[in-house]
Amino acid sequence: MSLRPTVDFLLYDWLGAQTLSERERFADHSRETFDAVLDTCERMAREKYAPFNRLVDTQEPHFDGEQVILPQATKDAWDAYAQSGMLSAAQDHAIGGMQLPYTVEAAGNAFFAMASVSIGAGMLTVGNANLLMAHGSPLQREVFALNEFSGRFSGTMCLSEPQAGSSLSDVATRATPDGEGFEADPLGPRYRLRGNKMWISAGEHELTENIIHLVLAKIPGPDGKLPPGVKGISLFIVPKKLVDTQGQLTGVRNDVTLAGLNHKCGWRGTTNTLLNFGEGRFPVEGRAGAVGYLVGEPGKGLGCMFHMMNEARIGVGMAATMLGMAGYHASLDYARNRPQGRPMGAAGKDPTQPQVRIIEHADVKRMLLAQKAYCEGALALELYCARLVDEQHTAAPEAADDARLLLEVLTPIAKSWPSEWCLEANSLAIQVHGGYGYTRDFPVEQYWRDNRLNMIHEGTHGIQAMDLLARKVLMENGKGLQLLAARMQGTIERAIQQPALALHANALAQALQQVGAATKAAWATGQPTEALANAVPYMQAFGHTVLAWIWLDVSLASLQAPATAAQLGRLAACRFFYHYELPKIGAWLQVVSARDMTCAELPEEAF
Ligand SMILES: Cc1cc2nc3c(=O)[nH]c(=O)nc-3n(C[C@H](O)[C@H](O)[C@H](O)COP(=O)(O)OP(=O)(O)OC[C@H]3O[C@@H](n4cnc5c(N)ncnc54)[C@H](O)[C@@H]3O)c2cc1C
Repeated sequence: MSLRPTVDFLLYDWLGAQTLSERERFADHSRETFDAVLDTCERMAREKYAPFNRLVDTQEPHFDGEQVILPQATKDAWDAYAQSGMLSAAQDHAIGGMQLPYTVEAAGNAFFAMASVSIGAGMLTVGNANLLMAHGSPLQREVFALNEFSGRFSGTMCLSEPQAGSSLSDVATRATPDGEGFEADPLGPRYRLRGNKMWISAGEHELTENIIHLVLAKIPGPDGKLPPGVKGISLFIVPKKLVDTQGQLTGVRNDVTLAGLNHKCGWRGTTNTLLNFGEGRFPVEGRAGAVGYLVGEPGKGLGCMFHMMNEARIGVGMAATMLGMAGYHASLDYARNRPQGRPMGAAGKDPTQPQVRIIEHADVKRMLLAQKAYCEGALALELYCARLVDEQHTAAPEAADDARLLLEVLTPIAKSWPSEWCLEANSLAIQVHGGYGYTRDFPVEQYWRDNRLNMIHEGTHGIQAMDLLARKVLMENGKGLQLLAARMQGTIERAIQQPALALHANALAQALQQVGAATKAAWATGQPTEALANAVPYMQAFGHTVLAWIWLDVSLASLQAPATAAQLGRLAACRFFYHYELPKIGAWLQVVSARDMTCAELPEEAF
């Protein structure tokens, strides 16, 4: 079973991605060039990623005291990906990029996430370089970002610390000016960093010539104390090996040390590290302290980092989606081939008849259709958000601003919804396999383990939910929410004309009204403790409403296409979502609207 027809349908029949070539920025492109990129990604994923997904799980990275050792397959995959030009897919022609729409880049990267999410397709490196393109000085871009786009260097994002995960205001890494004339360094104001960064993905390896860490740290005030809160956070480029202004390695190792590798539940093909900055293991010019170059202005580091995080969150949502999809395809294949049991007729079961394949049982069909509804719906959502990124960058000013605001509201959903529901899809994929699914002889348990990360990193589920309810639906006087509601309304008006979709359209209108009312009720007393006590159920209901809208809109496009099995499948997935999933929002929103304090007020000793 191939993913490609689904991607093609969503990209071209639903999102009309081919029309992007009418924009000046993408004028050199056409459906043919988009297809060529997708062909290449599909082939590389099939040849360089999928065959090694189990290998990278069993051969975890290990540290031999000098180096972190990864399987050769990881290096081969990285090199192939870098050589394909995908690291700079979205960049200007002038710097060697393809000027590809982000929509197509995201669709291409979906194939790698499905084949082997943990071998990875440069998400952190591209995000790191993109941040520098937006906020770095011209020389920082040339020396660091361009070498990341070529694949010579790779990148990390170093936010978390052992005591500062969700609460980045508590970052304690300290950056002090590196002596007299520290501001005159051509690579940027030069500081020395000291501190510990926890959970840093791809923080140490030998895949690339150098690793460019982007590190959040605080510059102490005149009293020597670190400024409180997020406003005191600055951003620094800390290369593992120091480079000159031409980007050549100087031969000096920076004072960044691997303190240890984390041994993860899944996603084991990517190293995950505890890094010590500035402990003196590799003194530079005879002194302890990791050399770091300030990016942008002091105190504005978190804002810059968010530039990286928004795209990263769509990337995380896509990874969760494709892990779910991998499980769906595997369990569909299994269900088509596994004989077990007999149908229950009016006279009971007939043991003289051969067993049927499990795909013939209603409950197995339920589990397969749920996976399809979750994963193909989530893929549509991620591509829709990717298309909004292109709108934000290339549409006329008003439409671009609408896209920006819509993205603000949809990003927590794009990150969190697949992380929860495509993980549930992975659980169902195990269930379809029965006992075999619980063994390492089949791939589905690994998909679940890999996917379990996504509700944790890039802002936990709880943090995303608070971002949605405390910030995103309120910002700019609720304009983002109103824009989203208007888009949903547009879909409802078109769908109501279609006999096959009219009931769903009415259900969506009702759901939208319920979400709006619950948003108001949550904030009715203006007390954040009450409003946010049930932020996660709110996000679940909001997410399900968004997905119901996405499915309705996809179904409208599907009705335009010829009646095929694929069309039948999409309409059934839509129906499943409306009959089995959307009604759940009532229970979720009830506690939100009532500002139910059952959990929030329970004293600790009662647990
Ligand atoms: C495999 C992996 C890869 C990672 N990669 C990176 C990386 O490359 N770079 C990087 O900087 N970080 C990375 N992280 C770190 C990740 O972003 C953090 O783990 C995450 O932000 C949570 O921080 P924490 O682990 O300290 O948990 P905590 O912040 O201690 O959270 C624990 C629980 O408490 C809840 N909680 C915390 N605060 C609140 C609150 N105010 N209100 C309600 N609930 C709250 C959380 O939702 C969570 O359920 C990675 C983590 C993992 C596991």
